[in-house]
Amino acid sequence: MFVSVLDLFTIGIGPSSSHAVGPMRAARAFVKDLEQLGRLEDVARVHVTLYGSLALTGRGHGTDRAVALGLAGHSPEEVDPDHVPAFVEGVRQQKRLSLLGRHEIEFAWDRDIVFARDQTLPQHPNALKLEARDAQGHEIVSEVYFSVGGGFVVREEDFGKETEASEEVPYPFRTGAQMLEMAAKSGLSVSGMMWANECVRHDASYLRAELLKRWEVMRQCADRGCRTEGILPGGLKVKRRAPELYRKLRAAGEPGKADPLAALDWVDVIALAVSEENAAGGRLVTAPTNGAAGIVPAVLHFFVRYHDGDDESIVRFFLVAGAIALLFKENASLSGAEVGCQGEVGVACSMAAAALTEVLGGSVAQVEQAAEIGMEHNLGLTCDPVGGLVQVPCIERNAMGAVKAINASRLALRGTGEHRISLDRVIDTMRRTGADMSTKYKETSRGGLAVNVAEC
Ligand code: SF4
Repeated sequence: MFVSVLDLFTIGIGPSSSHAVGPMRAARAFVKDLEQLGRLEDVARVHVTLYGSLALTGRGHGTDRAVALGLAGHSPEEVDPDHVPAFVEGVRQQKRLSLLGRHEIEFAWDRDIVFARDQTLPQHPNALKLEARDAQGHEIVSEVYFSVGGGFVVREEDFGKETEASEEVPYPFRTGAQMLEMAAKSGLSVSGMMWANECVRHDASYLRAELLKRWEVMRQCADRGCRTEGILPGGLKVKRRAPELYRKLRAAGEPGKADPLAALDWVDVIALAVSEENAAGGRLVTAPTNGAAGIVPAVLHFFVRYHDGDDESIVRFFLVAGAIALLFKENASLSGAEVGCQGEVGVACSMAAAALTEVLGGSVAQVEQAAEIGMEHNLGLTCDPVGGLVQVPCIERNAMGAVKAINASRLALRGTGEHRISLDRVIDTMRRTGADMSTKYKETSRGGLAVNVAEC
């Protein structure tokens, strides 16, 4: 299957790609199938069962809300975040839901969406089952979906087949070693190879415009996050920090000799702003997940602000970041429920480090090294969100991940590209570490900070 950089950086809403964006897509696909079968009007009931991590942290991550929106025909790309609270309230109050916005059924929220907290399906920790029945209670269709990370969704019958090779692209690298080898043979950069691959499917001007659109959405998201005060939803009473920091930084002016590291404050504020918008259910770009969506924009802002990054370099930045994400998706995972936060913040850090390295003039070997450093120092990072909300430690972790990415890039750029541990080795280590990690540290809120902090 060809996974495009446009599929990796999708425009959607918070707070979670695996627990909200994916389930919304699954629910929408389910009702679209019913429509195609000509059976939509026969449906009297839809029953949804959430398993594994979706059941354990789904309430805090808004999985039930996302499924209801998907059943109503909304997609993460077009749904208006401001419309969501009224939609949820309406369905809950009236106990009615309009499938695809045109066939109304009875829908009792707590009866028809079940959180099966004690059940996990063997294939993947993020699973949901949707069942449609007619007025006599007979099953029309039943389907199981897996939300495998980054908003990607796989049907049960396709599970395990979704990473088949994409031979039709000119540079079908699936490992870091192949990436280095193909770059050496072709003389192309990582972004050059990705561009050639993407242009097999997309018109060049369309691709460029779509990537710059994502940058614009990232900027708007950061801007909203820097200006929106208040307490984040969910009951933890976490105060948004970005607006106050933003005001202070604006007042202080550009970094000078007095505080040479003040540029990092700007990295922090963008990472916090985007992550706080995500936690509030706002519009953002998944990169490569929503929980870790603050890192790529924070590092890209840093590049644009301090290195005068132009549109051309911004496009290259996305292409390199996308290339690295694909290696992790192909050979490990982008899912916190599968491998812990290594698969979210760790991957985002690796992506941003590699992308920054290329646009700052690094060689392909230095790009590969930056990606490796970005992940090496996130190995073992657990996922233990307090209250099942994508807030603590997630928001601050994005700021830490962004700063780490910049340092990884600097370390790589100061070297020759020669290094002991390859990117492939660290990806494999991340996968193995994730497999060995206790389930309680994989987006279940049953370990770590999640059980060591009072929720209110
Ligand atoms: S701890 Fe990391 S993986 Fe877990 S929800 Fe937060 S950002 Fe995602």
